[in-house]
Amino acid sequence: MTAMSRPDDRALRHLPTLEAQKAALETCTFCPKLCRSACPVSNAEPRESLTPWGKMSLAYGAATGSVARTEDVAQTAWACTGCFGCREHCDHRNEVGPTLLDARDAYRAADLTPPAARGVLAGFDAHARDTVARAGIVADRAGAKVAAGAKTAVLVGCAYLSRAQDEATHAVLAAAELEGAPVSVVDACCGLPLLHAGDKARFLAQAALLDDATKGAERVVVVDPGCAVALRVYARAGGVTTRASVELLVELAAAELVRLSRVSFAEGPVRYHDPCQLGRGLGVYEAPRAVLTRALGRAPDEFFRKREDARCSGAGGLLPVTMPEVASATTRRRIDDHVERGGGTIVTACASSLSRFRGEGAEAIDLSTVLARALGAV
Ligand code: SF4
Ligand code: SF4
Repeated sequence: MTAMSRPDDRALRHLPTLEAQKAALETCTFCPKLCRSACPVSNAEPRESLTPWGKMSLAYGAATGSVARTEDVAQTAWACTGCFGCREHCDHRNEVGPTLLDARDAYRAADLTPPAARGVLAGFDAHARDTVARAGIVADRAGAKVAAGAKTAVLVGCAYLSRAQDEATHAVLAAAELEGAPVSVVDACCGLPLLHAGDKARFLAQAALLDDATKGAERVVVVDPGCAVALRVYARAGGVTTRASVELLVELAAAELVRLSRVSFAEGPVRYHDPCQLGRGLGVYEAPRAVLTRALGRAPDEFFRKREDARCSGAGGLLPVTMPEVASATTRRRIDDHVERGGGTIVTACASSLSRFRGEGAEAIDLSTVLARALGAV
């Protein structure tokens, strides 16, 4: 498929920081929207302005001046979980999610940030302080498996630290077990809430703090795939990033399968849900399935749409904060998919998805817990 040609060459002078994203915005704007069925947001709230095409075209129109820059127009950039689903259905593999993050930043610079996102920006310093305290709590819970100055630092992620402290502790214990030595717990936030809320410069500045928090470590083991994606964004922006080698906990575990034992699960199917950031974001599909297969003694059950075509849980991109009803409707759709295929337990590897699935009443478990049990660490 070839994108329709542009009627003229329009400068993006009304949102000038979007100039670097002009090609991506025009690719969507002049396209017949082949990706529309992939978007969890416009599937849950069927409005043309919320399709990937709609959100990109409105950002393009607001930037060129052909659409008025209003709060309603700006709000559409926050109607995205950053799931990469549209990219998989696009002949151009257009990067809509990252472009809409830049659009959020441009709208913020034009003073059009939606109130919920403004609240996230205003509350970030308190969030960063809470992250330090919560990392300390998880480190205490992991006891002798944690030592300050250890060669391996575990970046659990603030979603685990705030909403899933048992799972955060399991991840730290599993990492220590795999390393065969105590680990330290990183007590800085990667800053992803800032990027999602629309302040890219503050997000990039967070890289230096994370670098400081991992000083002395030779290896950083990342648990939440969203944090791993954030580290990649730092690197792409040419910013400071941690000097240590970076590995995903789930990939470390998949390289040590012989050390994993069978784990008992609740009766019924055990279905793996691909988190968007781990799957389409980082391209990791096999490692979690290999760990689960070993722990279960059989391959995990699957959603109808899986791997590259998996559907989003509605947890990402601040959607639960900016559009809570749409986020809940999206999560319920995933749970309905799960129930239609026989129900049972959902396994995820993303703290935000875990808390959404549980919040909507599903039986859900995190891969960190499976791993800690399979390693005999809990
Ligand atoms: S993401 Fe691709 S298919 Fe979807 S509107 Fe943009 S260019 Fe078209
Ligand atoms: S990245 Fe996901 S949520 Fe965002 S526009 Fe694309 S399909 Fe929709």
